Amino acid sequence: MSAQRTIVIVGAGFSGTLVAANLLKAQHWSATQVVLIERAAKIARGTAYAERSYPYLLNVPAGRMSADPNSPLDFLNFAQHRIPDATAEDFLPRELYGQYLEATLLDAEVSAATHVEFKRVKGVVCGIEPAEQAGYRVVLADGRQFDADDVVLALGNPGPADLPGTDKLGDQYISNPWAGPQTFTAGETVLLVGTGLTMADFAMAASAETKDQITIHAMSRHGLIPPSQTQFSQNTCKVDSGSILRAASFSALTLLRSVRELADDTERRGGDWRETITFIRNIAPQLWQRLPAREKRRLLRHIRPYWDIHRHRLPSQTLARMNHLRRHQKLNVHAGRLLEFELVAGPKVRVTWRPRGSDQPQAMLVDRVVNCTGPDYNIRRSKDPLMHSLLSRGLAVPDPLGLGIRTGAYGALINAQGQAARNLFYVGPMLRADHWEATAAQELRGYAERLASYLSAPVGRMRAVASA
Ligand SMILES: Cc1cc2nc3c(=O)[nH]c(=O)nc-3n(C[C@H](O)[C@H](O)[C@H](O)COP(=O)(O)OP(=O)(O)OC[C@H]3O[C@@H](n4cnc5c(N)ncnc54)[C@H](O)[C@@H]3O)c2cc1C
Repeated sequence: MSAQRTIVIVGAGFSGTLVAANLLKAQHWSATQVVLIERAAKIARGTAYAERSYPYLLNVPAGRMSADPNSPLDFLNFAQHRIPDATAEDFLPRELYGQYLEATLLDAEVSAATHVEFKRVKGVVCGIEPAEQAGYRVVLADGRQFDADDVVLALGNPGPADLPGTDKLGDQYISNPWAGPQTFTAGETVLLVGTGLTMADFAMAASAETKDQITIHAMSRHGLIPPSQTQFSQNTCKVDSGSILRAASFSALTLLRSVRELADDTERRGGDWRETITFIRNIAPQLWQRLPAREKRRLLRHIRPYWDIHRHRLPSQTLARMNHLRRHQKLNVHAGRLLEFELVAGPKVRVTWRPRGSDQPQAMLVDRVVNCTGPDYNIRRSKDPLMHSLLSRGLAVPDPLGLGIRTGAYGALINAQGQAARNLFYVGPMLRADHWEATAAQELRGYAERLASYLSAPVGRMRAVASA
């Protein structure tokens, strides 16, 4: 290993970009090279903030999307150069946020110390191998290799789980709507499977693109639609976190009751239940870690759908537009269970399903089925070659609850022997396995910042102190 330290980051979406930016801004005690490897044409975009034909909106107001916790209006200030009348409460285009992340990285690169070198690499990483000495060898699909003292995996969300019975649907089935450009045709009928934020995105895009000349069915087991964001302030929900943490040590049900009581109390005192969700989000890792394993399972089975819709909310204009579409039967939301897909002449898809609470199956005929069920965090089912390689080498292990991969302090990967890696880290939504809340920019920027500051500490003494 050369005297220069090399940190390789795989994936330049939100998390990888922020780890790189924080590393470039940090003080390093020795010559350091930061290598950022991304397979997509554009850096700093990832799935969420990529350029798309439809101008998807952020689902969080601009004033809460800063990449820098010390400068909460950083994103808004950037946005105002392009949209002068933008306010902190506006839901701005996601593509603009991608430009902001790119500019954030560029600023950090320009301000980096001379002994810190930055390299951007375009390529697909297909394997990570332990190197002969310390560190790892990062292997790209085109044969290139990078030796690294530290590796950060920032691979993003896995694709959705395949819907059973869709393998015979051919072009009538879209298995991952974010994987490529989607176009909708006037006059068609589509079934969006899932009723969360991805469904809302595609319902908006489909109705705009066809000028409302489309019929959309959206289906999930509970048929729950996320509520809207509001301009709430965090003033009314005041509680001692100890009581909620104690509730989590008992059971998922006790925790649920405590959270409900807190939300009711907040509203009684003139506040907004969303304050309670923010409060819970902030202590979610501690809550999750306190819940007994059996109770975690219960929470996932019974409470998660309700938590998810209250936690991941819609911009108010999106909800208003969806309600308009619903009133005109352009968007039909169903609660039920899918039973069968059948390709019939047309070509069309006959979908057999059973409404929630009924034992009578029903059928509908649609032109296409779009899988909007969101990421499948059960990485045993992953089709990603890099994830396969990590699992087969025992460098990563799946979380037993199917929430991602096991990690330790600072996102250190837990290996098959149950030990935390010294030089191999993960940052991104699969941190949920150990921290529960790890989806939104607000949480991920914190994880990225803490990992970068750990990696920039002198190797050895300081790192040992930091992980203690
Ligand atoms: C559609 C969508 C909208 C969202 N909107 C919001 C929002 O409005 N507000 C909010 O707070 N949060 C939002 N989120 C949540 C959150 O911001 C994202 O999930 C976050 O961007 C995740 O960052 P990431 O870096 O982990 O993954 P990504 O940003 O997806 O980045 C992963 C990157 O890794 C690359 N990569 C993966 N594997 C390899 C490999 N083997 N070799 C090389 N490169 C690789 C990918 O190409 C990708 O660029 C949204 C999420 C999604 C999916």
